[in-house]
Amino acid sequence: MNVSAPAETSAAPSLRDRDQIPERFKWNLSNIFSGWDAWLAAYDELDRQIAAFAALQGTLAQGGEQLLTALKRRDEIGQLEYKVWYYASLWHDQDQRDNQINAKRQQVQILFAKAAQAAAWFDPELLTIPLTTVREWMDASPALALYRFALEDLYRQQEHVLDDKGEHLLSLSSRFASSPNDAYAALSTADVKYPSVRLSQGDEVTLTYGQYRAILATNRNQADRAVAYQEFHKIYEASINTYASLYDAVLQRDLFFSQARGYATTLDAALHGNNIPTAVVENLIAATRAGTDPLRRYHRLRKQALRLDTYHSYDTTIPLVDFDRKYPYEDVLEWLPASVAPLGPDYERELRKILGGQCIDVYENPGKRSGAYSAPVYGVQPYMLLNYNDTLDAVFTLAHEMGHSMHTVLSHAHQPFVYAGYTIFVAEVPSTLSEALFLNYMLARTSDERERIVLLQHAIDGIVATFYTQVMFADFELQAHRLAERGQPVTGEVLADMYFDLLKSYHGDALDYDDRSRFTWARIPHFFSTPYYVYQYATCYASSAQIMKQLVGGPEAPRAAAVDRYLALLKSGGSDHPMALLQRAGVDLSRPEPVRAVVDQLDALVTQLEEVVG
Ligand SMILES: [Zn+2]
Repeated sequence: MNVSAPAETSAAPSLRDRDQIPERFKWNLSNIFSGWDAWLAAYDELDRQIAAFAALQGTLAQGGEQLLTALKRRDEIGQLEYKVWYYASLWHDQDQRDNQINAKRQQVQILFAKAAQAAAWFDPELLTIPLTTVREWMDASPALALYRFALEDLYRQQEHVLDDKGEHLLSLSSRFASSPNDAYAALSTADVKYPSVRLSQGDEVTLTYGQYRAILATNRNQADRAVAYQEFHKIYEASINTYASLYDAVLQRDLFFSQARGYATTLDAALHGNNIPTAVVENLIAATRAGTDPLRRYHRLRKQALRLDTYHSYDTTIPLVDFDRKYPYEDVLEWLPASVAPLGPDYERELRKILGGQCIDVYENPGKRSGAYSAPVYGVQPYMLLNYNDTLDAVFTLAHEMGHSMHTVLSHAHQPFVYAGYTIFVAEVPSTLSEALFLNYMLARTSDERERIVLLQHAIDGIVATFYTQVMFADFELQAHRLAERGQPVTGEVLADMYFDLLKSYHGDALDYDDRSRFTWARIPHFFSTPYYVYQYATCYASSAQIMKQLVGGPEAPRAAAVDRYLALLKSGGSDHPMALLQRAGVDLSRPEPVRAVVDQLDALVTQLEEVVG
């Protein structure tokens, strides 16, 4: 062991130093650059290209040829940026203690800031040219017409941009516009005093959020979970008027910007960027409220299976059975390709290429970044960071990240650079679908009743957390913003009542309610940091559920057509607005069917669970 490693990273007995991990379990960054000299040469080249791009300022109005030159230069810079950034960033993540690597990573960030400044002239200069002129240029030049969607979307975005004076005035407000969230972070994290609780075994525990979550997820004594829940929520109760005042500031800020830019509502302002109709969010909420039956059935089943007399919010995450089977990575290497068989042989072949492509960093080592991700290194391949620890959760994380990586591979292969990236609105569809296919595969192969229960609970808890809970949060945000839009007061009392009513309308009589649940809303950082964001988890889940429904079951011909449509979605990158892309994949989020698909999926899973534990 490295003696200089911080205590918390060297605590796990199985933790190996990076050089003790066999090469086949580590990513090979020399596929990006042969070494730091090559990286530095590319960095300098990027610096030159950024300066050259700035020199094009003032040329766009001369004609389509000049516009095309600028767009191509911008693409070249973008492609190089991917490699220069990820080489340093991935190096950094494999051991974050290395200060020299971190310095290189920061060097790239500084260069990117310079690039943004050197390119800031482009959009405003382009927008002084009438769209009709740009359209004539595109009609005359197929090479320029490639950029049609990107250019027309820029003009569409322009609809709510103000004149110079107005934009300047708005930009002056940017620093204090972030104040409510900064203050929320300080209040809920930096300044928070975590309470201590004494548990039934006599041990005293400081209730950080991590500890609190761990007690709810592992402690089989209901009284311990109850005391942890009550004490943890007192943190928010004690400052509830401050939290409410900060949230009111978020709402007033959103209202200010939506009005200043001439949007009808705050929701319109939030959805305009991706060209999403507001009916999507309204329909999502209405259809989900109408589909809470299987959610309630699940909680009633849990109450019965856990043999509890009363069933509370703090009883919703404890596992139904104890289970500690290990899933060695080598086994999963065979299961994962088999699980995607419904998507056809081409998909499976591409997936095997990733698994054997020296691009997955599998195991934890001292200093390695926690969690998991898939990084789209344009022009090379997606790289995946895991902290694989042989648990079932780790297996599903791999399936999830593999969905992102396959999306990247197919988008990059089939789209020009300008459309190679995809939006968050679509991103979680393939990752969710990849997990759903893997679940089906595992359910089909298991003959162990405990494993079946654990798999079903994993899937159901996923739907509850990424779908139902997120819709309930979106419901809360929408109601709160509407209060502000109508000029009604937003107080601690009002928000608490609103949250409590929501909890009841989603869970009905399946939960026993605690008064302190009224304060849970103050614990959700997304409300303060990124309003109107979480609904996208739910729309991605619903899209995936509806595609899944079309992919498995039913006659051969429509299934094959659904596979083609889905692969076309993965190959489409960001070449159109997300609603249009999803529509071509057979998903219309302005209608209730995608939500119905989630409700049906949950219903089927709960029925299966009832058969084994009921
Ligand atoms: Zn993801």
